[in-house]
Amino acid sequence: MPTPTAFFEGQFVPLEQAKIGVMTHAFNYGTAVFEGVRGNWNADEGQLYLFKVREHVQRIRQSAKIMRMAVHYTEDEMVEMVNRVAEMSGYQEDVYVRPMVYKSSELVGVRLHDLDDDFLLFVTPFGAYLDIEAGARCMTSSWRRVSDTAIPARAKVNGLYVNNAMAKTEAQQNGFDEAIMLNEDGHVSEGSGENIVILRRGTLISPPPQDNILEGITLDTALEIAQQELGLPVERRTIDRSELYIADEVFMTGTAAHLTPVVEVDRVPVGDGRPGPVSVQLQRTYFQAITGRLPQYREWLTPVYQGATVAAQP
Ligand code: PMP
Repeated sequence: MPTPTAFFEGQFVPLEQAKIGVMTHAFNYGTAVFEGVRGNWNADEGQLYLFKVREHVQRIRQSAKIMRMAVHYTEDEMVEMVNRVAEMSGYQEDVYVRPMVYKSSELVGVRLHDLDDDFLLFVTPFGAYLDIEAGARCMTSSWRRVSDTAIPARAKVNGLYVNNAMAKTEAQQNGFDEAIMLNEDGHVSEGSGENIVILRRGTLISPPPQDNILEGITLDTALEIAQQELGLPVERRTIDRSELYIADEVFMTGTAAHLTPVVEVDRVPVGDGRPGPVSVQLQRTYFQAITGRLPQYREWLTPVYQGATVAAQP
């Protein structure tokens, strides 16, 4: 049986004991930064593989720095704590580990300085976020992506996610699966929780960081696999909305969404309206990599359970 565990106020505790007070600054003003780390279950090995923990820890530390937050643990300690909270929780299925650095002072007052900061972790089971086989039907959101001059999109700031939630709800309530947000210049930025990649004339193209994207860890992974395994050229450049309609393929990447083909944008089919061959091939290799089935990519993974059998489980 799993034992859902959190790290809260300096200790590992049962998840139900990890509660914040109503006056907590982060709750009142969104003054927190977070991460999501996937644990991918390999049933054949009875093993849970955490994906790129160090990269996520490095990113939350950068987000915290932008938000003028003190992190009271070292990078190595945080990596270890992510592993530990996953191990203690004992899930035998795909999970999501949520690290958060937050303004923990219980007081009223809008600011970032002169406040206490704390770090917490919890784990939750987490299956598919988008339909990775059928692909996603997307709409261009009427909400613009938050700009670096407002709230920096490269920081995963909790309060910033209102922008994403606006876009996601608009898309779903209009019958789509996911939103694609444009930045203030009208160029393609990203999905509500995913980076975006298009394939045109054999080149994979994704918007650069200055188009107000989160600098995605799954994006880096997908582009690396594309270069290594498929020999595809990769370009980072600004993308116009109309390019989404004429791209040969479009896909999204994210910790939650993994690698999801986009089959339709604004009711225009992408290619022939089915997941394209490059997206499918990349997706297949990516899933093999994140579940520990490709030795060349094992360095991305941390096995959570010691002594897990390599023999197939019944
Ligand atoms: N963009 C946004 C807005 C996100 O929330 C996420 C998910 N963290 C991503 C992109 C994808 O980033 P990553 O692959 O690092 O999860």
